[in-house]
Amino acid sequence: MGTLAIMHAITRQTALTARILAQQFLFEGERADLIDWLLPHCQLRQLAPGCVLLTPKQTADRIYLILQGEVEVRVGRHGGQLIATLGSGQCVGEMSVIEGMPPSAEVIARGACTAITIEGAALRTLLDHSQVFARNLLRLLSRRLRHDNQLVRQSLESQALSEQDARRDPLTGLHNRRWLNETLPKLIGHRGARCKLCLLMLDIDHFKRYNDSVGHIAGDQALIAVANTLEAQIRDGDQAVRFGGEEFLVVLPDTNLKDARPISERLRHSVQQTAIFDRDGDALPSVTLSIGLAEWAAFETPEQLIARADAALYQAKHQGRNRVALSPAALPGPARLRRVKNA
Ligand code: GH3
Ligand code: MG
Ligand code: MG
Repeated sequence: MGTLAIMHAITRQTALTARILAQQFLFEGERADLIDWLLPHCQLRQLAPGCVLLTPKQTADRIYLILQGEVEVRVGRHGGQLIATLGSGQCVGEMSVIEGMPPSAEVIARGACTAITIEGAALRTLLDHSQVFARNLLRLLSRRLRHDNQLVRQSLESQALSEQDARRDPLTGLHNRRWLNETLPKLIGHRGARCKLCLLMLDIDHFKRYNDSVGHIAGDQALIAVANTLEAQIRDGDQAVRFGGEEFLVVLPDTNLKDARPISERLRHSVQQTAIFDRDGDALPSVTLSIGLAEWAAFETPEQLIARADAALYQAKHQGRNRVALSPAALPGPARLRRVKNA
Protein backbone atom coordinates (compact mmCIF):
# COMPACT_ATOMS: atom_id res chain seq x y z
CA MET A 1 0.00 0.00 0.00
CA GLY A 2 1.49 3.43 -0.98
CA THR A 3 1.71 6.52 1.22
CA LEU A 4 -1.50 8.02 -0.21
CA ALA A 5 -3.45 4.85 0.38
CA ILE A 6 -2.10 4.69 3.93
CA MET A 7 -3.24 8.24 4.57
CA HIS A 8 -6.67 7.71 3.00
CA ALA A 9 -7.28 4.66 5.12
CA ILE A 10 -6.68 6.69 8.29
CA THR A 11 -9.43 9.12 9.11
CA ARG A 12 -8.68 11.86 11.57
CA GLN A 13 -10.75 12.51 14.67
CA THR A 14 -10.12 15.39 17.02
CA ALA A 15 -11.94 14.34 20.18
CA LEU A 16 -8.75 13.51 22.06
CA THR A 17 -8.57 14.93 25.59
CA ALA A 18 -5.80 15.18 28.19
CA ARG A 19 -7.84 12.78 30.31
CA ILE A 20 -7.77 10.04 27.66
CA LEU A 21 -4.02 10.57 27.26
CA ALA A 22 -3.38 10.42 31.00
CA GLN A 23 -5.15 7.04 31.18
CA GLN A 24 -2.59 5.42 28.87
CA PHE A 25 0.15 3.20 30.32
CA LEU A 26 2.87 5.38 28.76
CA PHE A 27 1.69 8.39 30.78
CA GLU A 28 1.02 6.67 34.08
CA GLY A 29 2.13 9.05 36.88
CA GLU A 30 2.99 11.79 34.36
CA ARG A 31 2.70 15.51 35.35
CA ALA A 32 -0.53 17.15 34.15
CA ASP A 33 1.26 20.15 32.62
CA LEU A 34 3.42 17.85 30.44
CA ILE A 35 0.33 16.02 29.24
CA ASP A 36 -1.31 19.36 28.39
CA TRP A 37 1.85 20.30 26.49
CA LEU A 38 1.81 17.00 24.59
CA LEU A 39 -1.89 17.09 23.64
CA PRO A 40 -1.55 19.25 20.48
CA HIS A 41 1.10 16.78 19.19
CA CYS A 42 -1.29 13.84 19.42
CA GLN A 43 -4.25 12.77 17.32
CA LEU A 44 -7.05 10.28 17.77
CA ARG A 45 -7.42 8.20 14.62
CA GLN A 46 -9.86 5.61 13.34
CA LEU A 47 -7.99 3.03 11.27
CA ALA A 48 -9.79 1.09 8.56
CA PRO A 49 -9.31 -2.71 8.41
CA GLY A 50 -6.14 -3.58 6.44
CA CYS A 51 -4.72 -0.08 6.82
CA VAL A 52 -0.89 -0.06 6.94
CA LEU A 53 0.31 1.93 9.97
CA LEU A 54 4.01 1.27 9.55
CA THR A 55 6.13 -0.18 6.78
CA PRO A 56 9.89 -0.73 6.47
CA LYS A 57 9.67 1.11 3.13
CA GLN A 58 9.09 4.41 4.89
CA THR A 59 10.28 6.17 8.05
CA ALA A 60 7.19 7.24 9.97
CA ASP A 61 8.14 9.73 12.65
CA ARG A 62 5.23 8.90 14.97
CA ILE A 63 4.11 6.16 17.29
CA TYR A 64 0.68 4.55 17.58
CA LEU A 65 -0.93 3.79 20.91
CA ILE A 66 -3.68 1.24 20.33
CA LEU A 67 -6.93 2.09 22.14
CA GLN A 68 -9.31 -0.39 20.53
CA GLY A 69 -8.97 -3.28 18.07
CA GLU A 70 -5.82 -5.14 17.07
CA VAL A 71 -2.87 -4.65 14.75
CA GLU A 72 -0.73 -7.35 13.12
CA VAL A 73 3.05 -7.16 13.02
CA ARG A 74 4.42 -8.90 9.93
CA VAL A 75 7.96 -9.41 8.67
CA GLY A 76 9.20 -10.52 5.27
CA ARG A 77 7.98 -10.16 1.74
CA HIS A 78 4.68 -11.10 0.07
CA GLY A 79 2.39 -10.12 2.95
CA GLY A 80 5.00 -11.24 5.47
CA GLN A 81 4.89 -13.72 8.28
CA LEU A 82 2.75 -12.81 11.26
CA ILE A 83 5.03 -12.47 14.28
CA ALA A 84 2.74 -10.69 16.75
CA THR A 85 -0.76 -9.36 17.26
CA LEU A 86 -0.97 -6.30 19.49
CA GLY A 87 -4.10 -4.95 21.11
CA SER A 88 -5.35 -2.24 23.39
CA GLY A 89 -2.66 -0.64 25.60
CA GLN A 90 0.21 -1.66 23.28
CA CYS A 91 2.16 0.74 21.12
CA VAL A 92 4.03 0.44 17.83
CA GLY A 93 6.67 2.53 16.10
CA GLU A 94 8.55 3.60 19.23
CA MET A 95 11.84 1.91 18.29
CA SER A 96 11.81 3.50 14.88
CA VAL A 97 11.18 6.95 16.45
CA ILE A 98 13.96 6.53 19.02
CA GLU A 99 16.50 5.26 16.47
CA GLY A 100 15.40 7.49 13.57
CA MET A 101 15.31 4.40 11.35
CA PRO A 102 12.56 2.87 9.21
CA PRO A 103 10.39 0.31 11.05
CA SER A 104 11.71 -3.26 11.00
CA ALA A 105 8.27 -4.75 10.37
CA GLU A 106 4.98 -3.96 8.68
CA VAL A 107 2.11 -3.11 11.03
CA ILE A 108 -1.42 -3.51 9.68
CA ALA A 109 -4.83 -2.92 11.29
CA ARG A 110 -6.50 -6.33 11.64
CA GLY A 111 -10.01 -4.91 11.83
CA ALA A 112 -11.27 -1.41 12.55
CA CYS A 113 -8.94 0.12 15.16
CA THR A 114 -8.74 3.26 17.22
CA ALA A 115 -5.28 4.61 18.02
CA ILE A 116 -3.58 7.72 19.31
CA THR A 117 -0.65 8.94 17.22
CA ILE A 118 2.14 10.91 18.89
CA GLU A 119 4.62 12.91 16.83
CA GLY A 120 8.18 11.63 17.01
CA ALA A 121 9.71 15.03 17.85
CA ALA A 122 7.31 15.50 20.79
CA LEU A 123 8.07 12.02 22.03
CA ARG A 124 11.82 12.70 21.98
CA THR A 125 11.34 16.01 23.84
CA LEU A 126 9.28 14.21 26.45
CA LEU A 127 12.03 11.59 26.80
CA ASP A 128 14.56 14.38 27.48
CA HIS A 129 12.37 16.04 30.11
CA SER A 130 10.38 13.33 31.87
CA GLN A 131 11.90 10.47 33.82
CA VAL A 132 8.39 9.16 34.41
CA PHE A 133 7.78 8.90 30.69
CA ALA A 134 11.24 7.40 30.04
CA ARG A 135 10.64 4.76 32.70
CA ASN A 136 7.17 3.91 31.32
CA LEU A 137 8.58 3.55 27.83
CA LEU A 138 11.38 1.31 29.12
CA ARG A 139 8.85 -0.87 30.93
CA LEU A 140 6.82 -1.14 27.76
CA LEU A 141 9.87 -2.13 25.71
CA SER A 142 10.95 -4.57 28.37
CA ARG A 143 7.50 -6.20 28.33
CA ARG A 144 7.73 -6.46 24.56
CA LEU A 145 11.19 -8.07 24.79
CA ARG A 146 10.00 -10.54 27.40
CA HIS A 147 7.04 -11.46 25.20
CA ASP A 148 9.33 -11.89 22.15
CA ASN A 149 11.70 -14.10 24.16
CA GLN A 150 8.76 -16.25 25.16
CA LEU A 151 7.77 -16.60 21.49
CA VAL A 152 11.33 -17.61 20.58
CA ARG A 153 11.35 -20.20 23.36
CA GLN A 154 8.00 -21.63 22.23
CA SER A 155 9.17 -21.77 18.65
CA LEU A 156 12.43 -23.55 19.65
CA GLU A 157 10.42 -26.04 21.71
CA SER A 158 8.03 -26.82 18.86
CA GLN A 159 11.00 -27.09 16.47
CA ALA A 160 12.63 -29.59 18.84
CA LEU A 161 9.38 -31.57 19.01
CA SER A 162 9.00 -31.76 15.25
CA GLU A 163 12.65 -32.82 14.92
CA GLN A 164 11.93 -35.59 17.41
CA ASP A 165 8.83 -36.59 15.41
CA ALA A 166 10.93 -36.84 12.26
CA ARG A 167 12.98 -39.57 13.98
CA ARG A 168 10.01 -41.60 15.26
CA ASP A 169 7.87 -44.14 13.50
CA PRO A 170 4.30 -42.80 13.78
CA LEU A 171 2.63 -46.23 14.03
CA THR A 172 4.72 -47.83 16.77
CA GLY A 173 6.45 -44.84 18.37
CA LEU A 174 9.83 -46.59 17.97
CA HIS A 175 12.87 -44.85 16.51
CA ASN A 176 12.88 -44.88 12.72
CA ARG A 177 15.57 -45.46 10.12
CA ARG A 178 16.56 -41.81 10.01
CA TRP A 179 17.31 -41.97 13.75
CA LEU A 180 19.30 -45.17 13.20
CA ASN A 181 21.35 -43.66 10.36
CA GLU A 182 22.25 -40.72 12.57
CA THR A 183 22.78 -42.61 15.82
CA LEU A 184 24.42 -45.95 15.02
CA PRO A 185 27.66 -44.35 13.72
CA LYS A 186 27.82 -42.32 16.96
CA LEU A 187 27.15 -45.36 19.17
CA ILE A 188 29.99 -47.18 17.46
CA GLY A 189 32.30 -44.16 17.05
CA HIS A 190 32.08 -43.06 20.70
CA ARG A 191 33.23 -46.47 21.86
CA GLY A 192 36.26 -46.65 19.56
CA ALA A 193 38.02 -49.80 18.39
CA ARG A 194 37.27 -51.58 21.66
CA CYS A 195 33.54 -51.10 21.14
CA LYS A 196 31.29 -53.97 22.25
CA LEU A 197 27.96 -53.77 20.49
CA CYS A 198 25.47 -56.23 19.07
CA LEU A 199 22.80 -55.66 16.52
CA LEU A 200 19.65 -57.72 15.99
CA MET A 201 17.60 -57.68 12.83
CA LEU A 202 14.09 -58.98 13.52
CA ASP A 203 11.41 -59.82 10.98
CA ILE A 204 7.85 -61.04 11.58
CA ASP A 205 7.30 -64.46 10.03
CA HIS A 206 4.77 -64.87 7.24
CA PHE A 207 3.34 -61.44 7.91
CA LYS A 208 1.90 -61.15 4.44
CA ARG A 209 -0.19 -64.24 5.19
CA TYR A 210 -1.16 -62.69 8.56
CA ASN A 211 -2.38 -59.51 6.87
CA ASP A 212 -4.24 -61.54 4.27
CA SER A 213 -6.09 -63.48 6.95
CA VAL A 214 -6.89 -60.75 9.53
CA GLY A 215 -6.67 -57.59 7.42
CA HIS A 216 -4.14 -54.79 7.20
CA ILE A 217 -5.61 -52.77 10.08
CA ALA A 218 -5.40 -55.74 12.44
CA GLY A 219 -1.87 -56.29 11.03
CA ASP A 220 -1.00 -52.79 12.24
CA GLN A 221 -2.15 -53.80 15.74
CA ALA A 222 0.25 -56.76 15.58
CA LEU A 223 3.11 -54.39 14.63
CA ILE A 224 2.26 -52.15 17.59
CA ALA A 225 2.12 -55.15 19.95
CA VAL A 226 5.53 -56.41 18.75
CA ALA A 227 7.03 -52.93 19.17
CA ASN A 228 5.61 -52.64 22.71
CA THR A 229 7.02 -56.02 23.68
CA LEU A 230 10.46 -55.15 22.31
CA GLU A 231 10.46 -51.85 24.18
CA ALA A 232 9.36 -53.54 27.39
CA GLN A 233 11.99 -56.27 27.14
CA ILE A 234 15.13 -54.22 26.44
CA ARG A 235 17.23 -52.35 29.02
CA ASP A 236 17.66 -48.58 29.26
CA GLY A 237 20.36 -47.75 26.77
CA ASP A 238 19.33 -50.53 24.36
CA GLN A 239 17.45 -49.17 21.36
CA ALA A 240 14.55 -50.55 19.35
CA VAL A 241 13.99 -49.28 15.83
CA ARG A 242 11.29 -49.94 13.24
CA PHE A 243 13.56 -50.59 10.31
CA GLY A 244 10.67 -50.67 7.82
CA GLY A 245 7.49 -52.68 7.15
CA GLU A 246 7.47 -55.70 9.49
CA GLU A 247 11.21 -55.46 10.19
CA PHE A 248 12.68 -54.20 13.44
CA LEU A 249 16.21 -53.68 14.64
CA VAL A 250 17.54 -53.72 18.18
CA VAL A 251 20.88 -52.23 19.17
CA LEU A 252 22.55 -53.60 22.30
CA PRO A 253 25.46 -51.35 23.25
CA ASP A 254 28.19 -52.69 25.57
CA THR A 255 27.03 -56.25 24.89
CA ASN A 256 29.05 -59.12 23.38
CA LEU A 257 27.73 -62.03 21.35
CA LYS A 258 27.68 -64.38 24.33
CA ASP A 259 25.30 -62.10 26.27
CA ALA A 260 23.30 -61.00 23.23
CA ARG A 261 22.29 -64.53 22.34
CA PRO A 262 20.02 -65.17 25.37
CA ILE A 263 18.63 -61.65 25.01
CA SER A 264 17.68 -62.45 21.40
CA GLU A 265 16.04 -65.69 22.52
CA ARG A 266 14.16 -63.80 25.24
CA LEU A 267 12.86 -61.25 22.72
CA ARG A 268 11.83 -63.98 20.30
CA HIS A 269 10.03 -65.88 23.04
CA SER A 270 8.31 -62.77 24.47
CA VAL A 271 6.94 -61.79 21.08
CA GLN A 272 5.62 -65.30 20.54
CA GLN A 273 3.85 -65.06 23.93
CA THR A 274 2.45 -61.57 23.25
CA ALA A 275 -1.33 -61.45 23.12
CA ILE A 276 -2.58 -59.29 20.24
CA PHE A 277 -5.99 -57.62 20.11
CA ASP A 278 -7.75 -55.72 17.37
CA ARG A 279 -9.19 -52.25 17.94
CA ASP A 280 -12.44 -53.74 19.26
CA GLY A 281 -10.52 -55.75 21.85
CA ASP A 282 -11.02 -59.09 20.07
CA ALA A 283 -8.09 -61.49 20.23
CA LEU A 284 -5.93 -61.92 17.11
CA PRO A 285 -3.46 -64.73 16.36
CA SER A 286 0.03 -64.26 17.79
CA VAL A 287 3.09 -63.77 15.59
CA THR A 288 6.65 -65.11 15.61
CA LEU A 289 9.95 -63.48 14.80
CA SER A 290 13.07 -64.59 12.98
CA ILE A 291 16.19 -62.85 14.26
CA GLY A 292 19.64 -62.31 12.79
CA LEU A 293 22.31 -61.43 15.35
CA ALA A 294 25.68 -59.84 14.60
CA GLU A 295 28.41 -58.50 16.86
CA TRP A 296 30.31 -55.44 15.72
CA ALA A 297 33.83 -56.23 14.52
CA ALA A 298 36.61 -53.64 14.79
CA PHE A 299 36.59 -51.03 11.99
CA GLU A 300 33.34 -52.36 10.55
CA THR A 301 31.00 -49.66 9.21
CA PRO A 302 27.39 -49.48 10.47
CA GLU A 303 26.22 -50.54 6.99
CA GLN A 304 28.47 -53.63 7.05
CA LEU A 305 27.19 -54.57 10.51
CA ILE A 306 23.55 -54.20 9.41
CA ALA A 307 24.25 -56.24 6.27
CA ARG A 308 25.70 -59.08 8.38
CA ALA A 309 22.70 -59.06 10.75
CA ASP A 310 20.44 -59.11 7.68
CA ALA A 311 22.33 -62.07 6.21
CA ALA A 312 21.95 -63.91 9.54
CA LEU A 313 18.22 -63.12 9.48
CA TYR A 314 18.03 -64.67 6.03
CA GLN A 315 19.65 -67.80 7.51
CA ALA A 316 17.06 -67.87 10.32
CA LYS A 317 14.27 -67.73 7.72
CA HIS A 318 15.96 -70.38 5.64
CA GLN A 319 16.38 -72.67 8.65
CA GLY A 320 12.63 -72.64 9.30
CA ARG A 321 11.77 -69.23 10.92
CA ASN A 322 10.90 -68.45 14.56
CA ARG A 323 14.56 -68.74 15.54
CA VAL A 324 17.77 -66.79 16.10
CA ALA A 325 20.72 -67.17 13.71
CA LEU A 326 24.18 -65.80 14.43
CA SER A 327 26.35 -64.03 11.92
CA PRO A 328 29.85 -65.48 11.69
CA ALA A 329 32.46 -62.93 12.81
CA ALA A 330 33.19 -60.39 10.12
CA LEU A 331 36.04 -61.45 7.87
CA PRO A 332 38.77 -58.81 7.86
CA GLY A 333 38.88 -57.20 4.42
CA PRO A 334 42.22 -55.87 3.03
CA ALA A 335 41.44 -52.25 3.99
CA ARG A 336 40.44 -53.29 7.48
CA LEU A 337 43.57 -55.43 7.91
CA ARG A 338 45.73 -52.46 6.95
CA ARG A 339 44.00 -50.30 9.57
CA VAL A 340 44.38 -53.01 12.21
CA LYS A 341 48.13 -53.22 11.48
CA ASN A 342 48.50 -49.44 11.70
CA ALA A 343 46.43 -49.14 14.88
P1 GH3 B 1 8.79 -63.85 5.82
O1 GH3 B 1 8.45 -64.81 6.89
O2 GH3 B 1 9.68 -64.44 4.78
O3 GH3 B 1 9.33 -62.56 6.34
O4 GH3 B 1 7.43 -63.54 5.07
P2 GH3 B 1 6.58 -62.22 5.13
O5 GH3 B 1 5.24 -62.51 4.55
O6 GH3 B 1 6.59 -61.65 6.51
O7 GH3 B 1 7.44 -61.27 4.23
P3 GH3 B 1 7.05 -60.42 2.98
O8 GH3 B 1 8.20 -59.52 2.73
O9 GH3 B 1 6.61 -61.32 1.83
O10 GH3 B 1 5.79 -59.59 3.41
C1 GH3 B 1 5.88 -58.57 4.35
C2 GH3 B 1 4.49 -58.11 4.65
O11 GH3 B 1 4.51 -57.09 5.64
C3 GH3 B 1 3.79 -57.57 3.45
C4 GH3 B 1 3.30 -56.22 3.88
O12 GH3 B 1 1.99 -55.98 3.50
C5 GH3 B 1 3.38 -56.27 5.39
N1 GH3 B 1 3.59 -54.95 5.94
C6 GH3 B 1 4.64 -54.13 5.77
N2 GH3 B 1 4.43 -52.97 6.41
C7 GH3 B 1 3.22 -53.06 7.02
C8 GH3 B 1 2.45 -52.16 7.83
O13 GH3 B 1 2.82 -51.03 8.14
N3 GH3 B 1 1.24 -52.61 8.28
C9 GH3 B 1 0.80 -53.86 7.95
N4 GH3 B 1 -0.38 -54.24 8.42
N5 GH3 B 1 1.50 -54.69 7.18
C10 GH3 B 1 2.68 -54.32 6.72
MG1 MG C 1 8.42 -61.04 7.36
MG1 MG D 1 10.51 -58.50 5.75
